[in-house]
Amino acid sequence: MTTLIPHWIRGAEASGTSGRTAPVHNPATGEQTAEVALASTDDVATAVASAKEAAIAWRESSLSRRSAVLFAFRQLLHERTDELAAIITAEHGKVLSDAAGEIARGLENVEFATGVPNLLKGGFSEQASTGVDVYSMRQPLGVVAGITPFNFPAMVPLWMCANAIACGNAFVLKPSEKDPSAANWIARLWQEAGLPDGVFTVVHGDKEAVDALLTHPDVSAISFVGSTPIAKYIYETGTSHGKRVQALGGAKNHALVLPDADLDMAADALVSAAYGAAGERCMALSVAVAVGDIGDELVAKVAQRLPGLRVGDGAAEGTDMGPLITAEHRDKVRGYIDAGEAAGATLVADGRTGDHPQGGYFLGTTLLDHVTPEMTVYTDEIFGPVLSVVRVETYEEGLELINSNQYANGTAIFTRDGGAARAFQHDVHVGMVGINVPIPVPVAYYSFGGWKDSLFGDTHMYGPEGINFYTRGKVVTQRWPDPATSTIDLGFPRTR
Ligand code: NAD
Repeated sequence: MTTLIPHWIRGAEASGTSGRTAPVHNPATGEQTAEVALASTDDVATAVASAKEAAIAWRESSLSRRSAVLFAFRQLLHERTDELAAIITAEHGKVLSDAAGEIARGLENVEFATGVPNLLKGGFSEQASTGVDVYSMRQPLGVVAGITPFNFPAMVPLWMCANAIACGNAFVLKPSEKDPSAANWIARLWQEAGLPDGVFTVVHGDKEAVDALLTHPDVSAISFVGSTPIAKYIYETGTSHGKRVQALGGAKNHALVLPDADLDMAADALVSAAYGAAGERCMALSVAVAVGDIGDELVAKVAQRLPGLRVGDGAAEGTDMGPLITAEHRDKVRGYIDAGEAAGATLVADGRTGDHPQGGYFLGTTLLDHVTPEMTVYTDEIFGPVLSVVRVETYEEGLELINSNQYANGTAIFTRDGGAARAFQHDVHVGMVGINVPIPVPVAYYSFGGWKDSLFGDTHMYGPEGINFYTRGKVVTQRWPDPATSTIDLGFPRTR
């Protein structure tokens, strides 16, 4: 009998009513390890009803109580990181240290949210008019939902839920159906940390569950992270149903390598950021733009490093790169390599070959040189262990290339020239910029988000923008005059 991964509703497991499930695999072996329940519209309605009830009570909890729950959750997560990392690796495939890394970055968001008493402090203006004070506050929205991708099954939910809960909302998570177990583990941890039942809910599912959340009148806001076409759909559908929506999409992140860069350092950074997590990161560097005459040397240095990478089961000691998430995705990435080769790119390293463990969805590292902007390996997000090198003559040409791309999530410049780096961070049309930093994911007290087709909506995720997203502002004007001075005045109230 296959294990069923159930929903988590009202603080308990719930198998749902749809009768529909999806298989869950270990991508390192190809074996089915479980099946996950897929919620029906009715299941989502049950989940939202319990969240709505919980939100009413949770909004009344004091800031210090909320902070105490977050501190407890933070401590448990810190102590039990290895347990969660093993769950992530078994369903996602990334190596254990990488899984622990995503938990560490998620943990930072929990730590940020523990400061909620400070984060929700409003403004106060005494004597805004004679005898009149004005003050502002931010209040929770009620029930908010998060729809998350497969590639960060713990970190992305934590980006969302820590702030949403700290702000006094109830949070409903619809995780990826490809690696759903981390979500249930996190749900239990919230319960252990003392969060009241119903404040954190998990509904597993596919389009039916997502559509039910997008159209449910009691869901006030949707945070989404995933691919661009779905992000656009989520934004359009959610907003047309009156919801606040932040929808983060796909990426094609360029590294601009200037001729004065330390090429060994740049090559280390490119290899780490292109092939880490088998390229299944929205901040992966997938294009290296070599400026001037450094192309041959840079490509040689990257190529030199590839044979040293061990591809295998992410749970095994010494593995550098695990499998891709599914056989279909692996085949899709292969198809891009085929297309790049057919279009005339130079295949410097070919990940389609290699002696990988049987059964798993493995692909080795691919390095394509002389890639040009019309090739699909350049235009499309591949989301696999493929690095394309585009050669340009000048810095300006490289900048123009990056600024013409439809995606604008992250980018990085490699140089020893502070002036060039400063010009780049000023002129590049991308939301997150690294200067000699290959994966510039902002720390938790800034906010995360791209531009253009990498984000639909006005608010970036987590950090201060996350607090704004999960609350709405209210401004109060008060006076306490002597009733004996009261008069009728039909004029519009003036402040002076
Ligand atoms: P995906 O878009 O396929 O799925 C994301 C979520 O949407 C999942 O929960 C999935 O169940 C749901 N979904 C899928 N198809 C749907 C449909 N037709 N209608 C409604 N819901 C649907 O993305 P993925 O493959 O899980 O994740 C990889 C993608 O996520 C990549 O494009 C990557 O760049 C992107 N990503 C972006 C960021 C970012 O911060 N910008 C971070 C991580 C991942």
